[in-house]
Amino acid sequence: MNARRAPRRWLLASPSGAIGLTLLLLLLITAIAGPELAGAAATRIDVPIAGQTPSSAHLLGTNALGQDIMARVLVASRLSLELALAATAISTGLGLILGALPSLSGPAVGRFVDWVIRVTVAFPGLLLVLFLAVVFGVTTYGALLAVGLAGVPYMARLVRSLIRSVENREFVAAARIAGARRGKVLTRHILPNVAEPLIINATMTAGSAVLAFAGLSFLGIGIQAPSYDWGQLLQTGQSQLYTNPAAILGPGAAVVAAGLAFNLLGDAAARHLSGDAAAGRSHQGQADVTPVTGGTSPAAGRDGEPLVSVRNLRVTYQSRSGTVRALRGVDLDIRRGESVGLVGESGSGKSAIGLAVAGLIDAQGAVRADVLSYAGKNLLILPNQAKRKLLGLDIAVVFQDPMSALNPVRRMGSQLTDGVRYHRRLRRRTAYELLQGKLAHVGISDPGRRLRHYPHQFSGGMRQRAVLAMGILDTPSLIIADEPTTALDVTTEGRVLALLRSIRDEHQAALLIISHDMSVIRRTTDRVLVVYAGRVIESLPTADLADQATHPYTRALLAAIPDIDGDRARPLAVIAGRPPDPTLTISGCAFAPRCPLVSDRCHRELPILIPVRNDHQVACWNQPQIGRVGAEIPARKDGNPVG
Ligand code: ADP
Ligand code: MG
Repeated sequence: MNARRAPRRWLLASPSGAIGLTLLLLLLITAIAGPELAGAAATRIDVPIAGQTPSSAHLLGTNALGQDIMARVLVASRLSLELALAATAISTGLGLILGALPSLSGPAVGRFVDWVIRVTVAFPGLLLVLFLAVVFGVTTYGALLAVGLAGVPYMARLVRSLIRSVENREFVAAARIAGARRGKVLTRHILPNVAEPLIINATMTAGSAVLAFAGLSFLGIGIQAPSYDWGQLLQTGQSQLYTNPAAILGPGAAVVAAGLAFNLLGDAAARHLSGDAAAGRSHQGQADVTPVTGGTSPAAGRDGEPLVSVRNLRVTYQSRSGTVRALRGVDLDIRRGESVGLVGESGSGKSAIGLAVAGLIDAQGAVRADVLSYAGKNLLILPNQAKRKLLGLDIAVVFQDPMSALNPVRRMGSQLTDGVRYHRRLRRRTAYELLQGKLAHVGISDPGRRLRHYPHQFSGGMRQRAVLAMGILDTPSLIIADEPTTALDVTTEGRVLALLRSIRDEHQAALLIISHDMSVIRRTTDRVLVVYAGRVIESLPTADLADQATHPYTRALLAAIPDIDGDRARPLAVIAGRPPDPTLTISGCAFAPRCPLVSDRCHRELPILIPVRNDHQVACWNQPQIGRVGAEIPARKDGNPVG
């Protein structure tokens, strides 16, 4: 989005932009100066010269009253453009309000508004204009309301879909963690990111409005004499069609020029913007991770009592294919200063656990639990305000997707300090100084200059470390890192993991590290929870993972890690089969269809986590068969090693 700062040369660089801009400037000059210069000639009635054809004195001839048609076209440009712009303001203003309403209100209002938009958009636009024009009466204001209101549904739908496209991105979630309210999230974080397409659309809407007014006036239900716009001139010119075609060609050309001007400009801007967006995407190629966060606070549990306590956590999302059961009953405790890893295949529900603990599963999903508490506070009933504060100060979240967690149109310094400035009431200067120190701490050089940069000016690894710096601006008690190193090169990954460990050691923060990568989990955590199909199926100390894990799924995951010392002639193990469809209910063990040890009971009864030794719990009916240490998992009959 560097367009924001780049000089606007692009407008003149494309032929359509240059032509559109020139036309529009000419029209504006005419609209401003026309009535002053040509007003007298336009209204002077001079019957002896009525109905003349074009001449050097009257370039477009005269009308039935002997008024100069050229002068009238020039004068009419003011009213015509005023009406078009006013109607556009109505369409855009109301469309914006209607389209943004669902984001500000609850889901019921949102669904209702969506329904209204869908129904009204389906109504043909021209018919709507005619209908409204008749309803509001045949006056200038009637026409204005008709054209303005007829454009609202389309604009509202556009606003709605644009907002939706950014609403779920991480930087919006980040803003929520930082404590911003819905209204502020909308105005500060969402609207700036949809403003450009909206402006382009408003420009094009102005072009259509010019045509709509011309049409209405031409039909006699728009502007009424003695006022006149181009459409009205077209209508009165009709009677001279055969004697003086210029009476119609003049206002017609004006309508076409105005319509063209707006549409060419809009088109040039749209093309410029899409080129820009493509450029923006290419920066993201370097990938990385990002985050968000909050700071600190003395909250946090008393010793002994877990910082995070979760029992029977269920998360569902509504999707087209039905209810997605992302979590089907998860139990989890995290103690202060402890580092817990979540591992499992993609789609198993790891992120859902992190989001639920951070209170970030909003309107899109439903969270239920017997217990969901943080530092002794029940997150299920905590008022929003208190929750925001708690989450903003005490929990830092590092998201998986780098670029999308940062607002592309805001400078790093300002967005990274949102949380502390809001919650700690720090002044900008103080917050920036604090941030500079932390940026240096995470190994970003020249932090003072970096504060003024936009996210795309940071490399992937830098963005990720910058977000970590944001996370430790205050002293968080819990850092949730969701796939923090996916898509980073090995060296950068090593640095980021080392950084996470050092933050934990310095601040005694608890870590919840989410990864599908066993090696990341091994290097950063004390305890690992294995997640499968929305449930934790094994929990054990990370140090015991390699030789004590007993669940067939965990063993299979471990076997799937490539091993440098391994026999390279042997094919790499894969876990046969696929995870269950998250929209289906499962009776029994979700892993049963893929499990080499499956028995009847597995299909019938859901295994619960049972302690097999200190600190080690497994949800599997076949534990004794596996034995304790270094259990061998038999290969499947098809020859594929399972684990
Ligand atoms: P993981 O992080 O382990 O890859 P997730 O927690 O992201 O898994 O997702 C768990 C399940 O929930 C998946 O089946 C995923 O498709 C589904 N899911 C996640 N977010 C949404 C959403 N916003 N709407 C619908 N389904 C979702
Ligand atoms: Mg995930």
